[in-house]
Amino acid sequence: MKVYKVYNVLIDAGHGGHDAGLRYDLYGNMFHEKRIAYAYACQLASMFSLDLQYSVEMTRNADTAIPMTDRVDMVKQVNPNVLISVHASECADMRNAKTDCGVSLVYAIRSKRSEQCCRLIAEYMRSVGINVYDTGIHPAVYPEPVYYADPRVPAFIFNVGFMSNVSELDRLATPSYSYDLMVALYNGFSRATDYIPLVNPELPAIDSRRQSGSV
Ligand SMILES: [Zn+2]
Repeated sequence: MKVYKVYNVLIDAGHGGHDAGLRYDLYGNMFHEKRIAYAYACQLASMFSLDLQYSVEMTRNADTAIPMTDRVDMVKQVNPNVLISVHASECADMRNAKTDCGVSLVYAIRSKRSEQCCRLIAEYMRSVGINVYDTGIHPAVYPEPVYYADPRVPAFIFNVGFMSNVSELDRLATPSYSYDLMVALYNGFSRATDYIPLVNPELPAIDSRRQSGSV
């Protein structure tokens, strides 16, 4: 008998409400990271929700400020099988504003599985012509929801691009670009799960089951 499992996906759109995140001007219009994060997160959520393998929840469904503690509580409550947090980047040195561009993936340093997943997604994205920033995969050293996910669960921050680069910001504001980028992320993630099967975090870790003598 085939056992059918529906996996929970939690998509975290960064910032919101009074927390606008990064702000950059594009031809006289001020773009806020919170809006870019929300638009891209919704695009990704719609792709997961069309796949019957997944059920999707978002940490915010409107332009509201969600404190980090509430986001972390949501991670604990939903106990997702996948957690993707969507943000945008800016260059560390404004002298590189015209050259720094591309997506990046950030994972919690304690999660080997997330690191492996990010590497497979980056590999796929590069194969379809997406520019993954040089140091595009690195561990998070600051508290973010992904840090609180079960370490056996793929959890990472996906930075959609550099708002500090005008031509990249122009691209980021284009709906067809957001669609193409999120299709690539979704496909990259689906391929990564061929190698890293999704786990049910409700089950105790194999090591702890061994210790309790039940395995
Ligand atoms: Zn951000």
